[in-house]
Amino acid sequence: MDKPPHIAIIPSPGMGHLIPLVEFAKKLASVHNLSTTFIIPNEGPLSNSQYQFLDSLPNAITYTLLPPVNFDDLPPDTKIETRITLMVARSITSLRQTLGSMIEDKNIVALFVDLFGTDAFDVAVEFGVPSYLFFPASAMTLSLFLHLPELDQTVSCEYKDVPDPIRIPGCIPVHGRDLLDPVQDRSNDAYKRVLHNVKRYGMARGIVVNSFKELESGPIEALQQERPGRPPVYPVGPLIRSRPGPGSVELSKDVNESSSLRWLDGQPRGSVLYICFGSGGTLSSEQVNELAMGLELSEQRFIWVVRPPSDIADATYFNAHDHKGTFDFLPKTFLEKTKNRGLVVLNWAPQVQILSHSSTGGFMTHCGWNSVLETIVLGVPMIVWPLYAEQKMNAVMLTEGLKVALRAKSNENGIVDHLEIVRVINGLLQGEEGKGIRVRAQELKEAALSVLSEDGCSKTLDQLASKLKNKI
Ligand code: UDP
Repeated sequence: MDKPPHIAIIPSPGMGHLIPLVEFAKKLASVHNLSTTFIIPNEGPLSNSQYQFLDSLPNAITYTLLPPVNFDDLPPDTKIETRITLMVARSITSLRQTLGSMIEDKNIVALFVDLFGTDAFDVAVEFGVPSYLFFPASAMTLSLFLHLPELDQTVSCEYKDVPDPIRIPGCIPVHGRDLLDPVQDRSNDAYKRVLHNVKRYGMARGIVVNSFKELESGPIEALQQERPGRPPVYPVGPLIRSRPGPGSVELSKDVNESSSLRWLDGQPRGSVLYICFGSGGTLSSEQVNELAMGLELSEQRFIWVVRPPSDIADATYFNAHDHKGTFDFLPKTFLEKTKNRGLVVLNWAPQVQILSHSSTGGFMTHCGWNSVLETIVLGVPMIVWPLYAEQKMNAVMLTEGLKVALRAKSNENGIVDHLEIVRVINGLLQGEEGKGIRVRAQELKEAALSVLSEDGCSKTLDQLASKLKNKI
């Protein structure tokens, strides 16, 4: 009897990439009977939240860890895009062994890698396995990536110094300073790694992007225009974690979950601002103080996921959830002064449940793409405060394009000061601007729900699944 089709996926590190890939694998399993093995490169033990997440996957999804790579030779300021690319590149030998033995007992029909893992395509080619790219960010970012080799040829200065906004196919114009981090310094190795990866995207049989037409019609239409050397693009989003239910995968079965939801139960409808900077975002000490002061002065209700301050914005990207400790780093009287209307949670909160709660009226977010999609599906208006990666581009799309968010602006020292924080919080929860944003967030929610409930996006997934099963 023929062996059932099976997929291999190589995720890059970090929960932000793992979560949508797992949701993708779950859909392929439940709707199309395709099972998956995650082959995970790493530089040492994963974070607790990653183990917890991986150990609660459904039966059709398994995982195996590759031997850790060594990064002792990398300078401490090596950027995340370089680390991720090197993690895959330095795992090629072990990947070859793992995939080779998997192929002996499984019918591997495809190898998926995500945005910085294209070196693994070579191994797929060696074994004659079709390879695909999974793009966990926006279609706008994908459009920029596919356009980047051309920009690289035609622009001679730093992109931030180009006077006019940059034109990315199908997208609203974006100023160069708002493009993603690794393209901000073209002499840095991270920029070269991005270029290296995007130039290899053409090797994929298809590119799967976690977005949907109702959200990003311009870039998706541009991406789907046939061009020589461009693989077909499948918008299969929004892939987001579902609310807890029987058999669902949960990240935070800890004290933060029950305490924050119980606290929300006692608050008025739509009154609470949820503040969280993704799985790895951190603020400087000065910025933590300004945010605390702004929250205090705004007099609004809030849940704030706090992390010990750091001057590196993505400091905990690989190991969020692993910090233990107290709230000593918050201004002395803050907790006491806000205790009747605020809840402070250390490191990690049950985000999807908080966003689903009727007491939640707004989300101050770093604009990681998973957070954006979760917020849109749940119809929550946003305050955008981008920190790293492609988050500034997401912020531009949400404020200037979709108009479902206010942007917290930083001053000349790069700090969002307490007065600006008060302005955006009160503007969103109480002001006229906030009203319009709430209406549009609701409209976008309806559009997202219609994609999730009818066959809009699943038709795309059907097409892809049949291609995968037939190895074409
Ligand atoms: N998340 C969460 N609780 C937290 C922080 C993050 O559940 O306290 C989840 C969030 O719901 C999202 C993911 O972690 O699914 C973060 O992904 P995103 O793309 O927003 O940001 P990244 O962490 O990649 O910067």
